[in-house]
Amino acid sequence: MGKVKIFDTTLRDGEQSPGVSLMPDEKLAIARQLAKLNVDIIEAGFPISSEGDFKSVQKIAREIDDVVIAGLARSVKQDIDRAWEAVKEANKPCIHVFIATSPIHMEYKLQMPPEQVMEKAIEAVEYAAKYTHNVEFSAEDASRSEPEFLYELFEKVINAGARIINIPDTVGYAVPEEFGNLIKNVKNNVDNIDQVDLSVHCHNDLGLGLANSLAAVRNGANQVEVAVNGIGERAGNTALEEVIMAFYTREDHFQVEVKQDTTQIARLSKMVANLTGMHIQPNKAIVGENAFAHEAGIHQHGVMQERTTYEIMDAKTIGLEDNKLVLGKHSGRHAFRNFVEELDYDLDEDTFEDVFVKFKDLADKKKEITPVEIEALIENQYHHHEEIYKLDYLSISTGINLIPTATIRLNKDEKTIQKATCSGDGPIDAIFHTINELVGMEDIKLIEYKINAITEGKDALGEVIAKTEIKGNTFIGHSSQTDITEASALAYLETINKYLAAGGNGNKKAKVEDLN
Ligand SMILES: [Zn+2]
Repeated sequence: MGKVKIFDTTLRDGEQSPGVSLMPDEKLAIARQLAKLNVDIIEAGFPISSEGDFKSVQKIAREIDDVVIAGLARSVKQDIDRAWEAVKEANKPCIHVFIATSPIHMEYKLQMPPEQVMEKAIEAVEYAAKYTHNVEFSAEDASRSEPEFLYELFEKVINAGARIINIPDTVGYAVPEEFGNLIKNVKNNVDNIDQVDLSVHCHNDLGLGLANSLAAVRNGANQVEVAVNGIGERAGNTALEEVIMAFYTREDHFQVEVKQDTTQIARLSKMVANLTGMHIQPNKAIVGENAFAHEAGIHQHGVMQERTTYEIMDAKTIGLEDNKLVLGKHSGRHAFRNFVEELDYDLDEDTFEDVFVKFKDLADKKKEITPVEIEALIENQYHHHEEIYKLDYLSISTGINLIPTATIRLNKDEKTIQKATCSGDGPIDAIFHTINELVGMEDIKLIEYKINAITEGKDALGEVIAKTEIKGNTFIGHSSQTDITEASALAYLETINKYLAAGGNGNKKAKVEDLN
């Protein structure tokens, strides 16, 4: 059986998705779940791009032990220094340097002749290798580069100390047969290629990310770069869950050993969707809501007789266990602890107590509480928690021929702020207006607002995701409550708290093109 390393870039390329921005503690929560799933490498960020990103990478490097932690750097000293500074405390640090190698990128973006690009790449790898032996080199836009140029470049950067050679299909232009051939040709034409891991990084502009990655593996690549739910620049990256489940389900074909814990996939996917605010399409492979649903009668009948008639995977494999256990009003701390352990969460005492209080609160409003709801309570904890403003009181009046109004009281640093009442086009609009008034910020732009019922029934938990733009930065807030008006207020307030926690200047990252 072959081995293929899983290099996850959810926190770097994935975070570059339009409108996505994660706080350091949110990135850490995702990194923990990635480690639990047992990926080989976590690319935690691009440290030079912003102070916030630097801190996130550093935090992850300090706290995640068994996984390689990589930081991205352009082929320039200042980037490499910064990347090293961020990852150096990791047990297994890695510096990932890149430079564009296609004629079009070299001419128009870098404005450098090929010889100079080659020189810079070698210099960068040599420089990074002084810090760590674990250096990955990427030839950006490799799939549109001259193969002969790549062969020579790879041989030289390997001699300079690169340990992983990554071949990205940066713009998602390749097709499987051609991309597989490129990998085969690199294997055959670069003398020292067997000394390193051969990696691929495919984008989904033509929906071919997975097919290209698998073609590469069939032709000798032993590392695949992926992102959870396939998020990433433009149409996104190859999806982590699709690669792993392809190897798992078609072991007969790929002969690749899966050492990841596939039962962590569902939770990881949900966590990334919630924290990034990037929802998953219902028919998304593996993790879509409908991926294991059988609507057509004939299919349902077949599945009931024998699951494998229409299901090639078991929902349990990705962690979608149909747990029938429920808790209620009379469940105590002990029962709750067992339940949480059953769900495979290890919470520290403070977090446990926090969640327990929220559980009791929920149990007062709702007769039966299911695992999905407990998970939602726990997931709430992963969200940024510096609550500068706290919701203290909320009342709404609305109806036919009534002007919707909201009355809200907030606490700031344990002190109560005067109540305010504002009207709006609807009750939710009234809530947001009132909050703006109380925090004294009028320039908050709501750019997205979504409500989702996460459980069935009249007393279901409602999940709200709010995305705001404040002074040019995007913030995502999330809350699940039985009352959607309360959830809306909390989610909206979370975005304001994030803005303030980021020092009022936000978390905007410099674009690669703007750095110099
Ligand atoms: Zn990419």
